[in-house]
Amino acid sequence: MRQKVRRVIVFTTLFLFPVIFNYLSPYVSLDAAFAGLVAGSVMVFAFLFLSGIFLGRAWCAWFCPVAGLSELGATINDRPVKVNRLAVIRYAIFGVWFAALAAGFILAGGIRGFDPLYLTEHIVSVDEPLKFINYYLVLAILFALTVTVGKRGACHTICWMAPFLTAGELVGRALRLPQLKIRANPSNCVGCGKCTTKCPMSIDVAAEIKTGSVASLACIRCGECIDGCPKRALCYGMGRGKVAVGK
Ligand code: SF4
Ligand code: SF4
Ligand code: SF4
Repeated sequence: MRQKVRRVIVFTTLFLFPVIFNYLSPYVSLDAAFAGLVAGSVMVFAFLFLSGIFLGRAWCAWFCPVAGLSELGATINDRPVKVNRLAVIRYAIFGVWFAALAAGFILAGGIRGFDPLYLTEHIVSVDEPLKFINYYLVLAILFALTVTVGKRGACHTICWMAPFLTAGELVGRALRLPQLKIRANPSNCVGCGKCTTKCPMSIDVAAEIKTGSVASLACIRCGECIDGCPKRALCYGMGRGKVAVGK
Protein backbone atom coordinates (compact mmCIF):
# COMPACT_ATOMS: atom_id res chain seq x y z
CA MET A 1 0.00 0.00 0.00
CA ARG A 2 2.76 2.45 0.98
CA GLN A 3 4.56 1.95 -2.32
CA LYS A 4 1.32 2.45 -4.25
CA VAL A 5 0.76 5.77 -2.47
CA ARG A 6 4.36 6.79 -3.17
CA ARG A 7 4.00 5.96 -6.87
CA VAL A 8 0.73 7.88 -7.14
CA ILE A 9 2.50 10.92 -5.65
CA VAL A 10 5.58 10.77 -7.90
CA PHE A 11 3.54 10.13 -11.06
CA THR A 12 1.38 13.11 -10.10
CA THR A 13 4.45 15.34 -9.73
CA LEU A 14 5.77 13.97 -13.05
CA PHE A 15 2.42 14.92 -14.63
CA LEU A 16 2.83 18.40 -13.12
CA PHE A 17 6.48 18.71 -14.21
CA PRO A 18 5.64 21.13 -17.06
CA VAL A 19 4.13 23.44 -14.43
CA ILE A 20 7.01 23.30 -11.93
CA PHE A 21 9.88 22.80 -14.40
CA ASN A 22 11.41 26.27 -13.94
CA TYR A 23 11.24 26.07 -10.16
CA LEU A 24 13.69 23.14 -10.32
CA SER A 25 15.76 24.42 -13.22
CA PRO A 26 19.54 24.86 -12.94
CA TYR A 27 19.45 27.02 -16.09
CA VAL A 28 16.88 29.49 -14.69
CA SER A 29 18.97 29.78 -11.50
CA LEU A 30 22.05 30.63 -13.52
CA ASP A 31 20.37 33.12 -15.81
CA ALA A 32 18.89 34.94 -12.82
CA ALA A 33 22.22 34.90 -10.95
CA PHE A 34 23.92 36.81 -13.77
CA ALA A 35 21.17 39.43 -13.35
CA GLY A 36 21.82 39.49 -9.59
CA LEU A 37 18.47 37.84 -8.87
CA VAL A 38 17.59 34.84 -6.75
CA ALA A 39 15.20 32.77 -8.86
CA GLY A 40 12.46 30.52 -7.49
CA SER A 41 14.61 27.48 -8.23
CA VAL A 42 17.38 28.69 -5.89
CA MET A 43 14.73 29.09 -3.19
CA VAL A 44 13.60 25.51 -3.85
CA PHE A 45 17.22 24.29 -3.64
CA ALA A 46 17.54 26.07 -0.27
CA PHE A 47 14.35 24.34 0.85
CA LEU A 48 15.76 20.98 -0.27
CA PHE A 49 18.90 21.64 1.79
CA LEU A 50 16.73 22.34 4.86
CA SER A 51 14.55 19.26 4.25
CA GLY A 52 17.72 17.17 3.95
CA ILE A 53 18.69 18.08 7.52
CA PHE A 54 15.75 16.14 8.96
CA LEU A 55 14.48 13.94 6.14
CA GLY A 56 17.65 13.10 4.22
CA ARG A 57 16.84 12.46 0.57
CA ALA A 58 13.16 11.63 1.14
CA TRP A 59 12.29 14.22 -1.53
CA CYS A 60 13.87 11.90 -4.11
CA ALA A 61 11.48 9.07 -3.32
CA TRP A 62 8.31 10.91 -2.48
CA PHE A 63 8.05 14.19 -4.41
CA CYS A 64 10.61 14.70 -7.16
CA PRO A 65 9.07 14.48 -10.66
CA VAL A 66 12.21 12.74 -11.92
CA ALA A 67 11.36 9.92 -9.48
CA GLY A 68 8.28 9.13 -11.58
CA LEU A 69 10.40 9.10 -14.71
CA SER A 70 12.90 6.80 -12.99
CA GLU A 71 10.13 4.40 -11.97
CA LEU A 72 9.12 4.18 -15.65
CA GLY A 73 12.75 3.72 -16.70
CA ALA A 74 13.17 0.89 -14.21
CA THR A 75 10.54 -1.13 -16.08
CA ILE A 76 13.01 -1.17 -19.02
CA ASN A 77 16.35 -1.34 -17.21
CA ASP A 78 16.45 -2.39 -13.56
CA ARG A 79 20.21 -3.05 -13.42
CA PRO A 80 22.00 -1.89 -10.23
CA VAL A 81 24.68 0.78 -10.73
CA LYS A 82 28.04 1.59 -9.10
CA VAL A 83 26.87 4.46 -6.92
CA ASN A 84 30.25 5.85 -5.85
CA ARG A 85 31.72 5.76 -9.36
CA LEU A 86 28.76 7.69 -10.82
CA ALA A 87 28.79 10.18 -7.93
CA VAL A 88 32.14 11.45 -9.20
CA ILE A 89 30.45 12.53 -12.45
CA ARG A 90 27.51 14.09 -10.60
CA TYR A 91 29.66 16.12 -8.23
CA ALA A 92 31.94 17.27 -11.08
CA ILE A 93 28.91 18.61 -13.00
CA PHE A 94 27.44 20.10 -9.84
CA GLY A 95 30.77 21.79 -8.97
CA VAL A 96 30.93 23.51 -12.36
CA TRP A 97 27.31 24.64 -12.13
CA PHE A 98 27.66 25.88 -8.54
CA ALA A 99 30.84 27.78 -9.38
CA ALA A 100 29.05 29.41 -12.34
CA LEU A 101 26.15 30.34 -10.06
CA ALA A 102 28.52 32.00 -7.57
CA ALA A 103 30.38 33.74 -10.42
CA GLY A 104 27.05 35.04 -11.74
CA PHE A 105 26.20 36.71 -8.45
CA ILE A 106 29.73 38.11 -8.07
CA LEU A 107 29.74 39.57 -11.60
CA ALA A 108 26.28 41.03 -11.01
CA GLY A 109 27.61 42.83 -7.92
CA GLY A 110 25.89 40.53 -5.43
CA ILE A 111 22.26 39.66 -4.76
CA ARG A 112 20.10 42.56 -5.89
CA GLY A 113 16.70 40.99 -5.35
CA PHE A 114 14.47 37.94 -5.29
CA ASP A 115 12.33 36.92 -8.24
CA PRO A 116 10.47 33.64 -7.64
CA LEU A 117 8.82 33.95 -11.07
CA TYR A 118 12.01 34.67 -13.03
CA LEU A 119 11.43 33.55 -16.67
CA THR A 120 8.05 32.21 -15.49
CA GLU A 121 5.79 35.19 -16.04
CA HIS A 122 2.58 33.14 -16.14
CA ILE A 123 3.43 30.91 -13.13
CA VAL A 124 3.22 27.81 -15.39
CA SER A 125 6.78 27.02 -16.54
CA VAL A 126 6.17 25.44 -19.93
CA ASP A 127 3.56 27.59 -21.63
CA GLU A 128 4.70 28.03 -25.24
CA PRO A 129 5.94 25.76 -28.08
CA LEU A 130 9.66 26.59 -27.77
CA LYS A 131 9.58 25.85 -24.05
CA PHE A 132 7.92 22.51 -24.76
CA ILE A 133 10.83 21.60 -27.04
CA ASN A 134 13.31 22.36 -24.22
CA TYR A 135 11.16 20.51 -21.74
CA TYR A 136 10.91 17.34 -23.81
CA LEU A 137 14.62 17.51 -24.60
CA VAL A 138 15.46 17.53 -20.88
CA LEU A 139 12.94 14.77 -20.25
CA ALA A 140 14.48 12.68 -23.04
CA ILE A 141 18.00 13.11 -21.61
CA LEU A 142 16.87 12.14 -18.11
CA PHE A 143 14.96 9.11 -19.41
CA ALA A 144 17.78 8.03 -21.73
CA LEU A 145 20.25 8.11 -18.83
CA THR A 146 17.89 6.08 -16.68
CA VAL A 147 17.38 3.33 -19.25
CA THR A 148 21.03 3.17 -20.37
CA VAL A 149 22.95 3.58 -17.10
CA GLY A 150 20.62 1.52 -14.89
CA LYS A 151 18.50 2.08 -11.79
CA ARG A 152 17.98 5.83 -11.26
CA GLY A 153 20.71 6.52 -13.80
CA ALA A 154 19.87 10.22 -14.19
CA CYS A 155 19.79 10.68 -10.42
CA HIS A 156 23.25 9.18 -10.03
CA THR A 157 24.88 11.02 -12.92
CA ILE A 158 23.53 14.51 -13.54
CA CYS A 159 21.18 15.49 -10.74
CA TRP A 160 21.84 19.07 -9.61
CA MET A 161 19.42 18.85 -6.65
CA ALA A 162 20.71 15.79 -4.79
CA PRO A 163 23.88 17.56 -3.56
CA PHE A 164 21.69 20.07 -1.68
CA LEU A 165 19.80 17.23 -0.02
CA THR A 166 23.01 15.40 0.81
CA ALA A 167 24.61 18.56 2.21
CA GLY A 168 21.56 19.01 4.43
CA GLU A 169 21.78 15.41 5.59
CA LEU A 170 25.47 15.80 6.43
CA VAL A 171 24.81 19.00 8.39
CA GLY A 172 22.04 17.23 10.31
CA ARG A 173 24.38 14.33 11.08
CA ALA A 174 27.17 16.67 12.19
CA LEU A 175 24.80 18.53 14.51
CA ARG A 176 23.35 15.21 15.70
CA LEU A 177 19.81 16.34 14.93
CA PRO A 178 17.01 13.75 14.70
CA GLN A 179 16.81 12.40 11.14
CA LEU A 180 14.54 10.01 9.31
CA LYS A 181 16.39 6.71 8.93
CA ILE A 182 15.90 3.12 7.86
CA ARG A 183 16.49 1.18 11.03
CA ALA A 184 17.04 -2.53 11.40
CA ASN A 185 16.82 -5.34 13.84
CA PRO A 186 19.62 -7.56 12.47
CA SER A 187 18.60 -10.48 14.70
CA ASN A 188 15.43 -10.88 12.58
CA CYS A 189 17.41 -10.88 9.34
CA VAL A 190 17.83 -14.20 7.51
CA GLY A 191 20.15 -12.76 4.87
CA CYS A 192 17.80 -13.38 1.93
CA GLY A 193 18.99 -10.19 0.19
CA LYS A 194 15.51 -9.14 -0.97
CA CYS A 195 16.05 -5.65 0.49
CA THR A 196 19.17 -5.19 -1.64
CA THR A 197 17.37 -6.41 -4.77
CA LYS A 198 14.46 -4.05 -4.13
CA CYS A 199 16.56 -0.96 -3.45
CA PRO A 200 16.15 1.54 -6.33
CA MET A 201 19.38 3.28 -5.31
CA SER A 202 21.58 0.17 -5.71
CA ILE A 203 22.55 0.14 -2.03
CA ASP A 204 23.72 -3.14 -0.50
CA VAL A 205 21.02 -2.86 2.14
CA ALA A 206 21.59 -6.34 3.57
CA ALA A 207 25.19 -5.41 4.35
CA GLU A 208 24.39 -1.92 5.66
CA ILE A 209 21.78 -3.06 8.14
CA LYS A 210 24.27 -5.22 10.01
CA THR A 211 25.20 -2.03 11.87
CA GLY A 212 21.56 -1.34 12.78
CA SER A 213 20.65 1.24 10.13
CA VAL A 214 21.22 2.26 6.53
CA ALA A 215 23.99 4.83 6.60
CA SER A 216 24.44 5.33 2.84
CA LEU A 217 23.95 8.91 1.68
CA ALA A 218 22.29 7.46 -1.42
CA CYS A 219 19.29 6.26 0.62
CA ILE A 220 16.14 8.07 -0.45
CA ARG A 221 13.86 6.69 2.30
CA CYS A 222 11.53 5.09 -0.24
CA GLY A 223 10.77 2.19 2.09
CA GLU A 224 11.05 -0.42 -0.69
CA CYS A 225 13.46 -2.42 1.49
CA ILE A 226 11.09 -2.24 4.46
CA ASP A 227 8.11 -3.40 2.44
CA GLY A 228 10.11 -6.09 0.64
CA CYS A 229 11.55 -7.69 3.78
CA PRO A 230 9.77 -10.98 4.56
CA LYS A 231 10.99 -10.95 8.18
CA ARG A 232 9.98 -7.38 9.08
CA ALA A 233 13.55 -6.67 10.08
CA LEU A 234 13.42 -3.07 8.85
CA CYS A 235 11.39 0.00 9.76
CA TYR A 236 11.42 3.78 9.59
CA GLY A 237 12.68 5.65 12.63
CA MET A 238 14.03 9.00 13.73
CA GLY A 239 17.58 8.86 15.00
CA ARG A 240 20.61 11.03 15.69
CA GLY A 241 23.87 10.28 13.98
CA LYS A 242 24.33 6.55 13.66
CA VAL A 243 21.41 4.50 15.00
CA ALA A 244 22.34 1.73 17.43
CA VAL A 245 21.64 -1.93 16.61
CA GLY A 246 18.11 -3.09 17.39
CA LYS A 247 16.89 0.26 18.70
S1 SF4 B 1 18.42 12.42 -7.31
FE1 SF4 B 1 17.75 14.36 -8.20
S2 SF4 B 1 16.52 13.86 -9.98
FE2 SF4 B 1 16.72 12.00 -8.76
S3 SF4 B 1 14.91 11.99 -7.49
FE3 SF4 B 1 16.54 13.01 -6.30
S4 SF4 B 1 16.33 15.19 -6.70
FE4 SF4 B 1 15.12 14.09 -8.25
S1 SF4 C 1 15.05 -8.58 3.20
FE1 SF4 C 1 14.96 -8.62 5.43
S2 SF4 C 1 15.59 -10.68 5.98
FE2 SF4 C 1 16.20 -10.40 3.83
S3 SF4 C 1 18.34 -9.65 3.96
FE3 SF4 C 1 17.03 -7.86 3.94
S4 SF4 C 1 16.67 -7.33 6.09
FE4 SF4 C 1 17.45 -9.44 6.02
S1 SF4 D 1 17.91 1.54 1.52
FE1 SF4 D 1 15.69 1.17 1.52
S2 SF4 D 1 14.77 3.17 1.85
FE2 SF4 D 1 16.91 3.50 1.25
S3 SF4 D 1 16.82 3.78 -0.95
FE3 SF4 D 1 17.23 1.62 -0.62
S4 SF4 D 1 15.21 0.66 -0.57
FE4 SF4 D 1 14.87 2.86 -0.38
